[in-house]
Amino acid sequence: MKKVSIIVPCYNEEEVIEQCVNRLEAVCVSLEKYEYEIMLIDDGSRDRTLEILETLSENNPCIKLVSFSRNFGHQAAVTCGLKYVTGDAVIIIDADLQDPPELIPQMLQLWEEGNEVIYGKRKVRKGESAFKLFTAKMFYKTLNALSDVEIPRDTGDFRLVDRKVVDTINQMPEHNKFLRGLFSWIGYKQTPFEYERQERAAGKTKYPLNKMLKLATDGIVGFSTKPLRLFGTLGLLSVLVSFALLIYAMISYIWKLNDLSAGWTSIMVAITFFAGVQLLSIWIMAEYIGRIYDESKKRPEYIIAKKNF
Ligand code: UDP
Ligand code: MG
Repeated sequence: MKKVSIIVPCYNEEEVIEQCVNRLEAVCVSLEKYEYEIMLIDDGSRDRTLEILETLSENNPCIKLVSFSRNFGHQAAVTCGLKYVTGDAVIIIDADLQDPPELIPQMLQLWEEGNEVIYGKRKVRKGESAFKLFTAKMFYKTLNALSDVEIPRDTGDFRLVDRKVVDTINQMPEHNKFLRGLFSWIGYKQTPFEYERQERAAGKTKYPLNKMLKLATDGIVGFSTKPLRLFGTLGLLSVLVSFALLIYAMISYIWKLNDLSAGWTSIMVAITFFAGVQLLSIWIMAEYIGRIYDESKKRPEYIIAKKNF
C-alpha cells in the first residue's frame, strides 16, 4: 500500500490544533487505498499546544510528534517534517485550518495522474486584511521581476509533493529556506490546484510583520542576485548626473549666467540623497553577507527537544 504523510507545523495553536488533527484523521481514515502518518512539528510553542499534541499522539500510533527546543520558524518546522516523513506522497498543511484537509483526496487524485508537485493556488482568500493581500501581491510581483524562476502567485506552502521531490529538497543544506520558491526551482511535473482559502479557524496569525518581512527577504535574496547589481546602475547614473552638473557649472562660470556660489540647498540635497543611496546599498549587501555568514557557521536549522518515534 502507498503511504501518505502529512506535515503540520504548529506554533501556539492551542485553540485549533485538536480540531485540526481530528479533521486530518477523519480524512486519512477515509483514504482506503493508502496508509497514512501525520507528522506534527511543535515549533517551540509556549502555550498548551505541545501538551495537546502529546495526548493526541498517544491515542493514535499514526501520529508522529517532534518538538523543537525553541521557536525556529515555520520554514524550519516544515524542513524538519520533510526530513522525517516516510510517505510516498507528502502533504504540507497549516495547523489553522485555512487550507481545508478535505481537499486531500482530490490532491491525491492529481498525484496518481502523474503530477509530482501539486501546489494549492488561492482563488479566494477569506479573512485576510487588505494590507496583507496588498503586500503579498507586491511581494510576488517584485520576486518574479527579480528572480529567474517563476514562483506562482497566490501560493503558500499548502501542497502535495512526491517522494522524489522530498528527497531532492532534503539534499539541500541551505539555511533560511524559502520553501515555496525551492519547490518551484527544482522543477519536476508541477500543477496548480485551485481552492478557496478559509479564515483561520481560531486564534491569531503566527506571522507578525517581522516574520513576514524575514520570509520576503529570504525569498528575494535566496532567488536573485539582481538587487546587488542595482548598485552598479545607481553608480553609473550618479556619475552621469555629476558630469552634467560639472558642465552646467563651467558654462555658468564662463558665460556668467548664474551665480552658483550660494549652493547650500543643492549641496545638502546631494549629500543626503547620496548618503541615503549608499546606506541602502550597504543594507542590501548586508542581507546577502548575513546569509553567507549563517551558512558558514553550519549550525543546524532547528534543535529537536523530543520526538516520539
Ligand atoms: N508557524 C510555525 N512557526 C512560526 C510561525 C508559524 O510553525 O514561527 C505555523 C503556524 O502554526 C501555522 C503555519 O505555520 O500552522 C502558518 O502560520 P499562520 O497561519 O499564522 O500564517 P498566516 O496564514 O497568517 O500567513
Ligand atoms: Mg494561517
